[in-house]
Amino acid sequence: MVIIPRTFFLKRIFTPKGFSMTNSKDEYQDGIEPRKYTLDDKFKFACNKGMACYTHCCSDLNIILTPYDIIRMKNRLGLTSDQFLGMYTKPEILARTKLPVVTLKMFEDDKKSCPFVTPEGCIIYEDRPVSCRYYPLGVASFREQEIEPTGEDFYFMVRESHCLGFEADKEWTVSEWRKDQGVEEYDEVNKGWMELMLRKKSFGFQAELSEESRRMFYMVNFHVDRLRRFIFESSFLEKYDVENELLEKIKTDEIALLQFGSDWLQSALFGADRVKLKEEVAEEWKQRAQQEVTPRG
Ligand code: SF4
Ligand code: SF4
Repeated sequence: MVIIPRTFFLKRIFTPKGFSMTNSKDEYQDGIEPRKYTLDDKFKFACNKGMACYTHCCSDLNIILTPYDIIRMKNRLGLTSDQFLGMYTKPEILARTKLPVVTLKMFEDDKKSCPFVTPEGCIIYEDRPVSCRYYPLGVASFREQEIEPTGEDFYFMVRESHCLGFEADKEWTVSEWRKDQGVEEYDEVNKGWMELMLRKKSFGFQAELSEESRRMFYMVNFHVDRLRRFIFESSFLEKYDVENELLEKIKTDEIALLQFGSDWLQSALFGADRVKLKEEVAEEWKQRAQQEVTPRG
């Protein structure tokens, strides 16, 4: 069994559902308690403005942003996804899967501060990324094999020496903490992305994605405005069968758009039966493919 760390909030690496951008094991180990937590397990923790360590945890981080993080943060800041991605993120490629992700760009000051931290705290607190919400917990998923996740998650504690939150008497179960921090909503919206990231065997994920596929993956998951343009301002709707009701919804509902994009990617890249080509287009593509493989006499 392989354990895939899912969320890290260590000083230097912080990745949702455990996708590392380096292969260094040492970065994972720092501060992680060697104990597995379930949803019912308890821990003591508190964090508030009066603490001597207040905001000490908000610098020199490597935070991978999830699709829903980006939607929440860009809307909070009144930016388009283009503007947000350009101003606050860095594109990266995951070491093992070679999938594109975006990380939150830290300031270039001595502390490498998060752009949203102030002495008064996080200025986007209500819309902070899911990794910030989970801390001091991390989440991991079990895999039976290298590429086959079982869907089972477990939790672990990240104890960093500067964090005084563990001295508190306030007790939580993991489940209570998730609820209190609003994590469940993020997990729900990010489900499509996670499914793509975890690469089920049946989708043939062993093969590396082409450059074009990686661009699509980036657009669908992180660039919601470009995704909208791709659907409504290209020949997309001439090719794909999309019900009117859904079409109307994804014009204005970014979460629905993200989910539709994810379904389309599952179909376009991995053959899932979610977003269908129009019959005549499918027939034309089939014939074209046959001609390409038929040897000429
Ligand atoms: S208690 Fe921990 S999480 Fe809270 S501000 Fe201090 S270092 Fe950060
Ligand atoms: S987004 Fe907010 S909570 Fe997260 S590291 Fe930055 S300042 Fe801290």
